[in-house]
Order: sequence, then C-alpha cells, then structure tokens
Amino acid sequence: MDNKSSLTGFSSLAIHGGHEKDPSYAHLVPIYASSTYVYDTAEQGMRRFSGKEEGYIYSRWGNPTMNEAEQKIAALETFGLSMEVKGILHASGMAAISTLMLAELKSGDKVLSHFSLYGGTEELIHRILPNLGIGSVIIDLRDLNKAEEAMKQDPSIRMLYIETPANPTIQCVDIEELTKLARKYGLIVACDNTFATPYLQQPFKYGVDYIAHSTTKFLNGHGTAIGGILLGKDIEKMTSNVTKVHRLLGGNSNSFDAFLLINGMKTLEIRMEKHCHNAVEVANYLDQHPAVAKVNYTGLATHADHYIALKQMRHPGAMLSFELKEGLQGGIAFMNKLKMCVRTVSLGTCDTLLSHPASMTHYSVPKELREKYGITDGLIRMNVGIENIQDIINDLEQSLSN
Ligand SMILES: *Cc1c(COP(=O)(O)O)cnc(C)c1O
Repeated sequence: MDNKSSLTGFSSLAIHGGHEKDPSYAHLVPIYASSTYVYDTAEQGMRRFSGKEEGYIYSRWGNPTMNEAEQKIAALETFGLSMEVKGILHASGMAAISTLMLAELKSGDKVLSHFSLYGGTEELIHRILPNLGIGSVIIDLRDLNKAEEAMKQDPSIRMLYIETPANPTIQCVDIEELTKLARKYGLIVACDNTFATPYLQQPFKYGVDYIAHSTTKFLNGHGTAIGGILLGKDIEKMTSNVTKVHRLLGGNSNSFDAFLLINGMKTLEIRMEKHCHNAVEVANYLDQHPAVAKVNYTGLATHADHYIALKQMRHPGAMLSFELKEGLQGGIAFMNKLKMCVRTVSLGTCDTLLSHPASMTHYSVPKELREKYGITDGLIRMNVGIENIQDIINDLEQSLSN
C-alpha cells in the first residue's frame, strides 16, 4: 500500500495502513527476529549512525515489524485529520507513559491530573516521580473552573495528563475544553486513549501534544501480548529527545508482540462496533435488574459524564461497572456463578471479562479509601465482549439469580 492517504475508510486504514512491500514479497510483515542490522561498508555504518542514511541499526531502537505497528497506529490516530504524528512502540503502556513523563518533566515541574486514573499511572505519579523532584496536582478535572484555578495558581505545573474514559470509574473529562485551558497557560497536554481507541475518539483533533496507549487492550484485541505506544505531534521532539529517552530506558517492544498487535488491529472497527453494541444492551439489561443498585455506563443518560462522552466519542465504549445491592458477599457469589464470562482483570479482549475490585484488584485498599473513589463492596467491572449478546445476558441472568 503506497498511497495510504487515498483511503477513505477507517477500516481500510486499520487493515492496510503502515504496511510496506516486503523485500521477499511476503503478504504480511515478517517477525524480524534479529537483534542487529548489518552494513555493506564501514562508510554505510557511519552514515546510518549519523542519521544521514535511513536504516535499522539495533532492535532496541526499532525494526521493520515494530515500525509497521507504529505507522498503523499513527495513521489511525490521525485518520481524517491533516497532520502527521510519530509513534514509538513500547514494551507496555506503562513503559510508554514512563518515557513521556521522563522526556517532558524535570525536577521542579508538576503534572496536573484527574483523581481517577489507571492504577499504574497513579503509582508512577505518586511513588516514582517525587523521587526525581517531580510533583503532582490531582483534582477533579471534570470541574473546568477548578482546573483553570490550578493552572493559574501554580506556575510549576508543566503538563496536563488526562485519561478518558478513566479506569475504573468510566469517568470522562472534556478533552477540547481542558486542552484550550492548558494552551492558555502554556502546558503540554497528554492523553491516555486506551479505553476509547482511535476508532471511538481522536484526541489529536482537539490539539493534545501526546497520546499514550496500552496496546495490550482493545488495539491488540485478543489478550495475546502486553504493549504500549507513545505518539507525539512535535516530530522534531519525538525524533530527538523522546527517542533518546525511549532508547536509553530500554522499554522497547519486540517483533513477536508487534506482529500480534498488527494483526489484531485489522479488525478494530468491527470489534469496537460489536463491543459497543453489546455494551449498550448489557447496560440496559442491568439497569432494570432488581439485584443491581446502579449501572455506570456513559451510554446511559443517568451517567454524570454522558454529555462529554457524546461530544467526543463515536460510541460510549465497551467498559461499564455496576453495583450489586448485596455488597461484598453478593459480589463474590455473583462472580462464582459465571459460566461463560471470564473472571479476570484487564480489558479489551473479544471475551467478556468481569472483575470484582473489592475482592481482587483493590482487596488490600482500606474500605474507606476505596469508597472515596467509588469502588464499593458490590462493584463489578465489566469488559463487554463480542460474543452473542443473548449468551452474555443469559450468563449474567443465571449469575444474578439466587
Ligand atoms: C492497562 C492500562 C495501562 C497500562 O498498560 P500496560 O500495557 O498494562 O502497561 C495504562 N492506562 C490504561 C487506561 C490501561 O487500561
């Protein structure tokens, strides 16, 4: 595929975007299992190292398989936008976020963020960055006045870091309005787009500087590999400072995981369509169930962030959570009865996955603290999969019955 810009549909780009003709005419990009790349002459080596000639050098720095995944995600995140971005594939979402933080923040700087964030990101901000002299201001970013007040009052805030929809509460923040405010105060803006994927939401459209993904989730789509990517629109910075940090921290991806990711992404559009369609059905079903106290799904008009989700997302996503009236014991009993749906953490797979934070991920977090973040005893988190909808509902029905 030489002229990707002529493609008019997202799914075509998801399938063909980033692909370059293979020198041996393989249909799919091969899994390049080679740590180093060779030079015809010493002079060629010199040209490669000095950047005068393009070419691969060492797989920590990149290789053709990883390059195809980077190009494909960059194409999807800029679909329909007239701009170019550069993506750097990482070993995990956390590796990509670490590169971002360490490339953009220095001692004395602060990051401004929302109180509901992916657990790993929250710990990175609170346990690792302070040792480097990097602080944080964590507020409710759904309140734009509070956000502006924080930016105005503290000139050491250098980066606005957002995640929307956010883990695990499915809260949404307004990318457009927050980015406008951040511009006014000269901040860098980064957005974790893992839950939405570029099919549902394109943060670059609103002017953010960086997008981070855990490709482990919907982009891979099948739960077969851990991975991450950092995309940036300042190509100069991406190819110099950000590349340097990525290469020296060593959080590189590998060819096998990149290959799985590339093939997973080809079905991103149809998967997301089905995930979201099923999620709406499941949310409506749970919403009227007598054993359920509350359903958190941005597709329901009762969700506090329903209108923000409508504004910036194509569909309200595949993640939801719900609260069982019977609390901790109810949650445990429900989880034990599941037959088809899978008891596990994580998200973004074809299979429906359910977790019970109070007995699993948040077991060691004191109850009062958990509840402050909306993680009550009976809360169940659900990644609605792409199985037949009636089978999903049947499994929920028999698990909710006494
Ligand atoms: C999973 C996840 C991450 C971390 O990604 P890993 O690939 O597990 O390192 C970051 N942000 C969000 C929103 C996630 O769901």
